[in-house]
Amino acid sequence: MAKILFYSNNNNKFDEVKSLFKYLPVKILRPKDFGIDYEPRENGASFAENAKIKSLYGFQNIKIPCFADDSGICIEALGWKPHTHSKRFIESFNNKVACFKYILNKVEKSGKNKAFFQTSICFTTKENYHVVFEGVIQGKISKKILGENGFGFDPIFIPNGSKKTFGQLNKNKKNILSHRSIAVQKLVNFLSN
Ligand code: IMP
Repeated sequence: MAKILFYSNNNNKFDEVKSLFKYLPVKILRPKDFGIDYEPRENGASFAENAKIKSLYGFQNIKIPCFADDSGICIEALGWKPHTHSKRFIESFNNKVACFKYILNKVEKSGKNKAFFQTSICFTTKENYHVVFEGVIQGKISKKILGENGFGFDPIFIPNGSKKTFGQLNKNKKNILSHRSIAVQKLVNFLSN
């Protein structure tokens, strides 16, 4: 069976991604299967650049086809930030709830509640061969912090067409809708063809 490395140490992401590969005869491995937990510095200006930094690093070090994702949330009330700085942004608060309250307050004051999640996936099979797949899910910031499923900003993001936050949806439902699943599905279609 072909082996592909998904260069991520995030267990939530790994579960999401693995379930999308279930119909392909491919074994998805992660850095920890090779005793590695290092994450290269993501200093690109775009999600695609950051994804490429990680997929190239994985390919160069483990020498099998490798893909990596970079994702984040873009919030209208924050001037469409924190974008590629989403992880740093949430970690700059004492805890997640403090971060969510800050965002909810900005949304309430500005009256701007739109938001979207974006994922770029970079798939690297040779030193200079990278294919990028994009996934975006549009939605809005909820009025309250709701739900405990998922991770990151899930408890305050309501995807368009839903009444629930990502944090209230179970894994399978989030997986059908999420930015990451849109991008991963494009990679799966690419590999199937
Ligand atoms: P990463 O660099 O792709 O791990 O994503 C950066 C940050 O964006 C994460 O630490 C989360 O805070 C946020 N993020 C990315 N994807 C999601 C998601 O599906 N739900 C909630 N937050 C997310």
